[in-house]
Amino acid sequence: MVAGLLERLGVAAAAYTQGDYPVHTPIDGSQIASVKLLGKAETIARIDQAQRAFEAWRSVPAPRRGELVRLFGEVLREHKADLGELVSIEAGKITQEGLGEVQEMIDICDFAVGLSRQLYGLTIASERPGHHMRETWHPLGVVGVISAFNFPVAVWAWNTALALVAGNSVVWKPSEKTPLTALACQALFEKALKAFGDAPAGLAQLVIGGREAGEAMVDDPRVPLVSATGSTRMGREVGPRVAARFGRSILELGGNNAMILAPSADLDLAVRGILFSAVGTAGQRCTTLRRLIVHRSIKDEVVARVKAAYGKVRIGDPRKDNLVGPLIDKQSFDAMQGALAKARDEGGQVFGGERQLADQYPNAYYVSPAIAEMPAQSEVVRHETFAPILYVLAYDDFEEALRLNNEVPQGLSSCIFTTDIREAERFQSASGSDCGIANVNIGTSGAEIGGAFGGEKETGGGRESGSDAWKGYMRRQTNTVNYSRELPLAQGIVFD
Ligand code: NAD
Repeated sequence: MVAGLLERLGVAAAAYTQGDYPVHTPIDGSQIASVKLLGKAETIARIDQAQRAFEAWRSVPAPRRGELVRLFGEVLREHKADLGELVSIEAGKITQEGLGEVQEMIDICDFAVGLSRQLYGLTIASERPGHHMRETWHPLGVVGVISAFNFPVAVWAWNTALALVAGNSVVWKPSEKTPLTALACQALFEKALKAFGDAPAGLAQLVIGGREAGEAMVDDPRVPLVSATGSTRMGREVGPRVAARFGRSILELGGNNAMILAPSADLDLAVRGILFSAVGTAGQRCTTLRRLIVHRSIKDEVVARVKAAYGKVRIGDPRKDNLVGPLIDKQSFDAMQGALAKARDEGGQVFGGERQLADQYPNAYYVSPAIAEMPAQSEVVRHETFAPILYVLAYDDFEEALRLNNEVPQGLSSCIFTTDIREAERFQSASGSDCGIANVNIGTSGAEIGGAFGGEKETGGGRESGSDAWKGYMRRQTNTVNYSRELPLAQGIVFD
């Protein structure tokens, strides 16, 4: 299934045939490759090399560093179809979403190339005569990237494109569920390196490994920044360990994203927004819509329309003409069934959620997306289950809807569908949604790379991608220069 693809992407056969760790596709559950998992010692060796690369790369002018990222964007354009297909095979995304993920990589490369000429600092007015002050941004060091299975390539690119133009080197530990897409990214990056010519060896390293490899990175003081994407459980372990050695982390963790659907909303738009956000990627996006907070007066109509839309969703092989592919594995299916049982126990009325296509794919886990009408925001609703379950809650007044939106431990994405400008503005105000992303008349998922991406509370507080997220990958330095013949002290202090 993958040999031809991997060959075109430049991955040597030995890298995916000679290990003892099996790689399965969620499409039919079959084994498609076997890779070697690296442990602590190998991870440390890669960090050594990345540290040496950093020491050279930090002095290369930023626009020249941008040239490498520009070349990488070109290589990605050339290989978009193949890499997108590999994402579908390994992560189970439908073709459009696999291609969309690669497009995100290309977009962040373009963004980073522009950024490489705009790593601006500040000039600050000094209180002392004959002095000037400025703020400059310098490269940080080795950036450790830990990524999740559900965005197997884009999250690495978000981090790597910025880290490289910022003058850093990168060590990447992808999810052990998606090593093939990582091998392909590394091969494509090496192609860009070759075209670039003189980048230091080991500038971007790959560690195919499990937790042990991740932990080696987390604990190494030569890694000043760990950017970790995954579950809140993982972030709870990684965050304090990095902080304990005074390292920095960018944590991009679980979400529990809501839509407030107001009575004035354009319901045609809203139903389409619900469908894409709740069902896309089989509910396996960090920004997946998990809670629909709908005004009681329109709840029955909306639920009926969403159920009708769900009924038409084509489920199956993500490379064919379907909208919903498989869950990543059995564990994920079991978690979904457990959550639905709990929803029933907590008084919910469940629609959908059954296993599909089990005869055709006994070792793969396709499900119909589920809707659970809940009497309250109970325990199961407050928890992120990484599967297509949409909890529906009714509200009577807007304050109650806002309260429900915010009363969960996570704070990634949120949206409101309304045509009432007071509600829309309030939702995005200081007393509105408490999430990192708050949209109006757009669903919770499918962010553009131009904005800073990330969330609050148990989502971890990190920001990646656009806006000024690049600052997270650099160190800030304040400079004061005295060009006078005196030595005046700050705060008017006389020290004679
Ligand atoms: P996961 O937490 O199981 O694994 C994520 C990564 O962390 C993997 O590479 C894993 O090997 C590594 N890891 C796990 N424990 C570790 C430890 N103690 N030390 C170092 N590394 C460790 O997550 P997953 O199942 O792959 O992905 C799904 C989760 O990721 C969901 O919760 C989803 O919301 C979240 N996610 C968040 C974002 C975001 O930007 N906020 C994006 C994608 C996914």
